[in-house]
Amino acid sequence: MPGEFEVIRRYFEPAAESGRGVQLGLGDDCALLEPPEGETLAVSIDTLVEGVHFLPSIDPEDLAWRLLGASVSDLAAMGAQPLWLTLAITLPEADESWLEAFSRGLLAATRACQVRLVGGDTTSGPCRILTAQVHGSVPVDQALRRSGANPGDLIFVSGTLGDSRAGLALLTDLPDSAGSLSEQAYLLQRFLRPEPRFELGLALRGIATAAIDISDGLLADLSHLLNRSSVGARVRVEDLPLSTALLELDSQQLAREWALSGGEDFELCFTVSPQNSAKISKLAERLNLSLTQIGEVTRGQGVQLTSGNEVWHSKTPAGFDHFGGDR
Ligand code: ADP
Ligand code: MG
Repeated sequence: MPGEFEVIRRYFEPAAESGRGVQLGLGDDCALLEPPEGETLAVSIDTLVEGVHFLPSIDPEDLAWRLLGASVSDLAAMGAQPLWLTLAITLPEADESWLEAFSRGLLAATRACQVRLVGGDTTSGPCRILTAQVHGSVPVDQALRRSGANPGDLIFVSGTLGDSRAGLALLTDLPDSAGSLSEQAYLLQRFLRPEPRFELGLALRGIATAAIDISDGLLADLSHLLNRSSVGARVRVEDLPLSTALLELDSQQLAREWALSGGEDFELCFTVSPQNSAKISKLAERLNLSLTQIGEVTRGQGVQLTSGNEVWHSKTPAGFDHFGGDR
């Protein structure tokens, strides 16, 4: 079994490519990094714990993609350009086949997400724990925040919602017969290899009044944005963007519930003033990504869900909360 430094050299160094303001990357006591001139650093950290955030049986290559997808999604939500990654990893043992697959996923995912691995920490411990810290940059005062939504703004989401929750269900409790093979593959991919929408985040600078990424479920995350902005919202359930794969898997009712409360879609939810709404359809075309208006920002607080002319739901269902706290 390789030792700590051999593990770092063999399995992590390959993802430590040079460039993008890296004066000194992995290998010294610190990395030396130079953010683009005049820009603010955006920093976010995420941890995945075996048995809590991922099943022990997950393919390590997928795990690397999920780790990067979740972390870089936070940069996307702020309109930050991804730059650098530091990775703290705890493993019970230096299992070479596991590390090799993880390393492959790490290299591919860092390239896809445009981050360079610049350092980290490698330790042994009772179970696998992975912490990714990502750094991005955004011109001063151009970051998208949760706090800028105004009554009358339109609420949009990217892509489709609920797919990731369906992918998880396929892994854990749905029968193998649920959906066709290609639908299953699509939904699993959405869960295992989320694509952070950083290009959308960059394009929304100067257009969106507020933004958040959907990691805990639309209702929970939209509520965070609304609370920060001191406003409420009306959302039409008929307008939730649902993939055909999700709709064909089970009932429309379940698909809508997963779209509202299932986590880890890593799509962006953002608000724009009505004057800017035409820009959103052009953007959708340019990025080849669906951007769907699902409702409006209102005065007051909380989310009112409507279906036709009826109020469907007016409380705030909770997304995932590690300590099970009340929201
Ligand atoms: P130190 O003892 O100074 O903390 P380490 O011996 O932990 O340094 O790490 C040696 C070098 O390898 C450092 O540059 C560190 O950033 C890098 N490194 C360690 N683990 C990882 C990892 N999992 N991913 C990327 N770089 C790592
Ligand atoms: Mg160390």
